[in-house]
Amino acid sequence: MSAKILDGNALAATVRERLALRAKALSAQGVTPALAVILVGGDPASAVYVRNKVAACEKTGVRSLKFDYAEDTAQATVLAKIAELNADDNVHGILVQLPLPRHFDADLVLEAISPTKDVDGFHAENVGALAQGKPRFIPCTPYGVMEMLKSENVPLKGAEVVIVGRSNIVGKPMALLLLAQSATVTICHSQSRDLAFHTRRADILVAAVGRAKMITGDMIKPGATVIDVGINRQVDGPNAGKLCGDVDFESAKNVAGLITPVPGGVGPMTITMLLANTLEAAERDLAARQKG
Ligand code: NDP
Repeated sequence: MSAKILDGNALAATVRERLALRAKALSAQGVTPALAVILVGGDPASAVYVRNKVAACEKTGVRSLKFDYAEDTAQATVLAKIAELNADDNVHGILVQLPLPRHFDADLVLEAISPTKDVDGFHAENVGALAQGKPRFIPCTPYGVMEMLKSENVPLKGAEVVIVGRSNIVGKPMALLLLAQSATVTICHSQSRDLAFHTRRADILVAAVGRAKMITGDMIKPGATVIDVGINRQVDGPNAGKLCGDVDFESAKNVAGLITPVPGGVGPMTITMLLANTLEAAERDLAARQKG
C-alpha cells in the first residue's frame, strides 16, 4: 500500500488565504503588519530562504523590510539595527537568518530581539514560555508540523511519537508541542543506540537530522505518519544537486500511512507559520494600543 502524501504546498496555500484576510483586517484598522529580516553574509542557502520569506510576505499583505549585511560586518552594527527595530512601532516581527558568521555570538544576537517581536520564537524568554505550556511565539517549523498533523486529524493523545534530532529550532520545540498534546514523546539524537528500535515503534515519526535519506522504509512502523523536516542536497546519483529529505521517500512511502515529501512538505508550512506569527504580533500590538 502506498502512503497518502501530505501536500505542504496545498495546505500552505489554504492557510495563507486565511492569513491574508487577517492582514487585510489589520490594514483596515490602519496597521500594516511588518516583518524585518536581517541577513548577514553571503550563504547561498540563507539568501534563498530570505528571498522566499520576503516573497511570501508580499503575497500575504505583510510588509517586509530586508537588511543585508556583508560577512565581515561587526556584531555591534547588527545589534544597533535590532535595537532600532525593537523601538519601531511600525515593525511587528524581527528575524535574524541563521547561521550567523563565526565572529557572531548567535545567542546574544537572538536575545537582543524584543521577545514581543521574536517571531521565530528563539528568544530564551519565549523558549521558557513554550516549555511551561504558555507559548507566546511557537518556532515556525514545529508550528507548521503541528498544523499539518491537525489538517489530517492525526490522533496525538497517547500516540507514540519519535523525533530524530534535538536541535533548539526543531527537535526540542517539536517535542514540547507534542507533549502538550499528550503524546508519548521519545527524542533520538546522534548518540542514541539502535535508532531503528525507536523509529519502528513510532505512530508518528519526525525526522529532523540533516542526513539525506537516512530513515528507510524498514525503520518505519506500517501505517505510521512520517514527517520529514530534513532538507538535503543530493551529492551523487542521477538526482545529484536535487533536494531530498532525511527520509528515503521511495522505500518509506510503501510502509507509512501518511508522509510529507521533500520538497513541498514541511518547508512551505515553515514560512507560512512565520507569517502567522508576524500577524499575531501585529494583532497583539494593536489590541494593546486599543486598550490604552
Ligand atoms: P541540527 O544540525 O541543529 O540538528 C541535527 C540533529 O540531528 C542533532 O540533534 C543531531 O544529534 C541529530 N543527528 C545527527 N546525526 C544523527 C544520527 N546519525 N542519528 C540520529 N540523530 C542524529 O539541525 P536542525 O534541527 O537545524 O535541522 C535538521 C534538518 O532540518 C536539516 O536538514 C535542516 O536543513 C532541516 N530544516 C528544515 C526546515 C524546514 O522548514 N523544512 C527548517 C529547519 C531545518 P546531536 O544533537 O547529538 O548532534
